[in-house]
Amino acid sequence: MKITSIESFVLSDKLKQSFYFSQWEYSERRICIVKVTSDTGHVGWGEGYGPATVIKAGIEHLTPFVLGQNPLETETIWSIMYRRTLDFSRSGVMVSAMSAIDVALWDLKGKILGQPVHLLLGGKKRDTIIPYATGLYFTDGCKLSEMLFKEAKLYVEMGYKAVKMKVGLGIEQDIEHVRIIRQAIGPDIKLMMDANHAYNLREAIQLANAVEQYDIYWFEEPISPEYYSQYAELRSKTSIPVAGGECEYLRFGFQNLLNSKSVDIVQPDICASGGLTEAKRIGVLASVYGVEIVPHTWGTGIAIAAATHFISNLDAIPGRLKAPNFYLEYDRTENALREELTTTDMVVKNGEIKISDAPGLGFELNEEALLKYTMKAENGQLVKSSSNDLK
Ligand SMILES: [Mg+2]
Repeated sequence: MKITSIESFVLSDKLKQSFYFSQWEYSERRICIVKVTSDTGHVGWGEGYGPATVIKAGIEHLTPFVLGQNPLETETIWSIMYRRTLDFSRSGVMVSAMSAIDVALWDLKGKILGQPVHLLLGGKKRDTIIPYATGLYFTDGCKLSEMLFKEAKLYVEMGYKAVKMKVGLGIEQDIEHVRIIRQAIGPDIKLMMDANHAYNLREAIQLANAVEQYDIYWFEEPISPEYYSQYAELRSKTSIPVAGGECEYLRFGFQNLLNSKSVDIVQPDICASGGLTEAKRIGVLASVYGVEIVPHTWGTGIAIAAATHFISNLDAIPGRLKAPNFYLEYDRTENALREELTTTDMVVKNGEIKISDAPGLGFELNEEALLKYTMKAENGQLVKSSSNDLK
């Protein structure tokens, strides 16, 4: 059995309305996905998190090392990719490129064997997980508070049991937004807040102390990810759990995060931190430290499916009769690529997602959407395909 081709695609869609968070503005969704085909005629799909064109270049660099390998040997292929790149990239977008190929290989292996990925990971330890709605970003306009209130209320009406909001605009404005959103969702919905590393330690402590009264489930990336000891100090000064890890790579990066006691919740992105092969190891590592794991998830249905299978396989730490909830990050911002590229039986119902038992990652890829959103090279530049221009 052999891998016969690896094709990567940069997909793009202009947003109807741009939005921003503490670091930059989004006016377009752009993502790199990869298709791996074996001589059995099966196909697996993967996705990389990060700058799409750079990830595509990384995938093209890795391709000669992966072609001809046995697609069932996911760990062997992971080691080959890692050994060929570790001298110059033990973190960053080359690891995202590896992650994309690795996720595609797990999907492919599942398709070849006719089994769902959760079974290949060792088994499904729960049938459903709880998606938390990621949204509540910022948009320009004088009625931001009103818009956040309405959006938060809408998530509750849609049945979500947990929502995550953005902070990082400035302490006073953040406090006001948290107050308004808590008022909108009521006392029973979990509320997380994410600063995307906008604050220094003093500011993070100030914000955390001011919003403790609003029952915050976790405070995500309060501080820039380089400052491990500042994360640890923040934890000692607030009762709000601290989350982070979407900027870490490989088990070695997560070992730093865990050794420094920086977080209560680790958040590896499966499509960036090393794929499903490495996520499984990061999960084991987190269990060694007794720290909860909730992956960072962003992108298309490929990334969501990979996270769902991974989460269904996680151990509850500690184990007990009445197990804790397991959460899935579920981005609700505008993204036609996420909505159109895949179809799956994993849909949100009563605030829960049922894990798919279909082979591989459990989705079908819509080839028409792929064609519609794939960018083509023209005179050395990536442009929208002609079918996309007709939109
Ligand atoms: Mg985040």
